[in-house]
Amino acid sequence: MAPPGYASPAVRGYRGLAPRNRGWPGACRTPRVTFRGDSRLDTSQVDDARGRGIGGPVLIGGGGIGIIILIASLLLGVNPLADYTGTTPIEGPSSLADCKTGADANQRTDCRVVGFVDSIQKFWADDFALRGETYHQAKTVIYTDVVQGGCGTASGASGPFYCPEDGRVYLDTSFFDELRTRFGAQGGPFAEGYVIAHEYGHHVQDELGLVQTTSTRTGPQSQSVRIELQADCLAGVWARHAADTGYLNAPSETEIAQALDAAASVGDDRIQRETQGRVAPEQWTHGSAAQRQKWFTTGYQTGERDRCDTSGAL
Ligand SMILES: [Zn+2]
Repeated sequence: MAPPGYASPAVRGYRGLAPRNRGWPGACRTPRVTFRGDSRLDTSQVDDARGRGIGGPVLIGGGGIGIIILIASLLLGVNPLADYTGTTPIEGPSSLADCKTGADANQRTDCRVVGFVDSIQKFWADDFALRGETYHQAKTVIYTDVVQGGCGTASGASGPFYCPEDGRVYLDTSFFDELRTRFGAQGGPFAEGYVIAHEYGHHVQDELGLVQTTSTRTGPQSQSVRIELQADCLAGVWARHAADTGYLNAPSETEIAQALDAAASVGDDRIQRETQGRVAPEQWTHGSAAQRQKWFTTGYQTGERDRCDTSGAL
């Protein structure tokens, strides 16, 4: 039994108050932000198709072009069908026209998409230029529910994807919520940045002619997995140089951890364990959680796209 007064409220109160009275170092620090507040956003790289859902049942299937399915989706694949039309942004309370600066990107998910797209494409344009190559910009289409594109009708269930047919990235921003709620990721701005940078990794592959194969094989050593892991690596290369683009502060350890956590959450083994209760490597299309983390890290640590050669050991 404790001596009288040992655990009295007075003692507990003192212990509780003492550190506060001394003040925690950093207690008045302003929260760290991902984007530089003064950076100017270029909204022309993002098309706003939100609220333009076509309604009715979403058609699945269509062209069945192997390569599209192979590289199109971060998660599940995409449906090659019709043409994406129209680029007029919808004016309204969530118009991209309001995304003017990095401060807006720190506040709003849609502005953050703009900021990441701007940063990612600035990096790749510079990287290509340094090698005497030309990078052609690819737009991102943000949408809600369903959208028509060069790869057909996509729904939020498709997950984000790059469509090589029209050279655009398609993103339903509700996927960022799904990352947390469905895939168990911790989320955070850099989880979003990783997702977008991965899709632009596919565009870079497209620019470099690295996705000509039509192989649809699956498995841990398959061409599909190699392409996906390379896109993860290219995302890491961008992350390494993100601050050089002028849009972002250098990612903190916490932010890199967000990216790695997101990469792991969409690993084939992780998804299989969640959805079918067992891991079937022969069905892998994107790589395991460990592989995806490994290749993002390779890109991030080296900062060189040439190190993203996934043709050898994975
Ligand atoms: Zn992918």
